[in-house]
Amino acid sequence: MNLYDVSIVGAGIVGCAIARELLCRRRAAPIRILVLEQHERPGEETSGRNSGVLHSGIHEPPFSLKERLAREGCRLAVAYALKHDVPLLRAGMIIAVSMEDVRRGLWRDITMLRRLWFNAWRTKTRVRFMTPSALRACEPYLHACCGIAIPSVSVIDSQAFVQSLKNESEATGAEFAFNNRVIGVEEAAGSYLVSTDRQRIRTTCLINAAGLYADDIAALGMSHKKYVISPLRGEYYELVTPEKQSLIGRPVYPALPSQATGKGIHFSPRPNRRLYVGPNEMPVADKADYTSRKTTPGLFVEVLQKFLPSLDTRDLRWAYSGIRPRVVTNSRSKSDFIVSVDREDPLLINLIGIESPGLSAALALARHVCDLPSLRSRFPSI
Ligand SMILES: Cc1cc2nc3c(=O)[nH]c(=O)nc-3n(C[C@H](O)[C@H](O)[C@H](O)COP(=O)(O)OP(=O)(O)OC[C@H]3O[C@@H](n4cnc5c(N)ncnc54)[C@H](O)[C@@H]3O)c2cc1C
Repeated sequence: MNLYDVSIVGAGIVGCAIARELLCRRRAAPIRILVLEQHERPGEETSGRNSGVLHSGIHEPPFSLKERLAREGCRLAVAYALKHDVPLLRAGMIIAVSMEDVRRGLWRDITMLRRLWFNAWRTKTRVRFMTPSALRACEPYLHACCGIAIPSVSVIDSQAFVQSLKNESEATGAEFAFNNRVIGVEEAAGSYLVSTDRQRIRTTCLINAAGLYADDIAALGMSHKKYVISPLRGEYYELVTPEKQSLIGRPVYPALPSQATGKGIHFSPRPNRRLYVGPNEMPVADKADYTSRKTTPGLFVEVLQKFLPSLDTRDLRWAYSGIRPRVVTNSRSKSDFIVSVDREDPLLINLIGIESPGLSAALALARHVCDLPSLRSRFPSI
């Protein structure tokens, strides 16, 4: 039976980023790392099914992990993409207020914009108030009467990002076991025996980066805490009418009331210049249900036509969906990322509820995990 120091469940962006960070830090003593993944490639679940936006963190609750790690992670991800040739669209982001929003009650959006403005000021994130003429200069076809621009926001090719992190970790010594679904974990003499549907391994430390299934892996790992993840689908349509594909050049988000849970259906251009709209929020019963009861394109047109009046259902073609791993909590407030050492011996680290802005935060999240005292005391070489 193979023996590892650290085994990571999940080759999404978070699992791959942690493997890379552990290997970047390793000094004298070698450390044996295994990443177990149920699919045949990295990033097949949430990490490859999102908007690819590297967020600034100002949408997140002040002083939360989401806020801090998105801010730090976005900077790290841009530097990483430039160094490793991961496709990037560096055009900033706009949060727009339409004429229709103003007619329906400007106070609501002003409250939201003021909150973002304050968060930006507090975290020293550069933002610009956009007058109608400033908006026209950068997005000539956008119908909006004002907004906020966040110049530091970029869009990354999320699949290429995950693949690059996987390649780098593998090249520096991590092992990846694809088509290996973790189905059992037992404790034996201070370590874990992990069973997949193909093999059995022994590991000193288990890091659970299993995304939508992180609640199940936490339970298998005999976590002292119980987690429940509720899947929330987000769907995307692509704008396929050739003369409309280049009408919007950067992510354009609506201004939403402060209690909104997501960031809203937006225009989502990608580094390859394709333009998508989405995602909505649709609770699903099954964590793998990407396609049943697809929302019709009419809903997306209804929401976004105020910004682009020429948008029509005939312009949209179904593209894909992703599923958010939302944690069920008792609190009504927006949940934070959970990074928790839930057993010390053997060491079990659970990463739960890594929903948006998890892609933005991934590299900083990996640093955060590798800085955990329990991990550092177990492996002084990192
Ligand atoms: C619609 C949508 C839009 C989003 N937009 C953005 C955005 O613009 N910007 C942003 O920053 N974030 C965004 N996010 C969030 C971001 O995509 C996630 O936070 C991030 O991808 C989470 O990565 P992960 O590695 O934790 O999870 P995942 O990518 O889900 O990786 C977990 C991996 O674990 C594997 N796994 C699970 N169970 C097992 C098992 N038993 N055995 C072996 N392997 C297992 C899975 O196959 C999977 O590959 C969005 C998410 C959604 C759904």
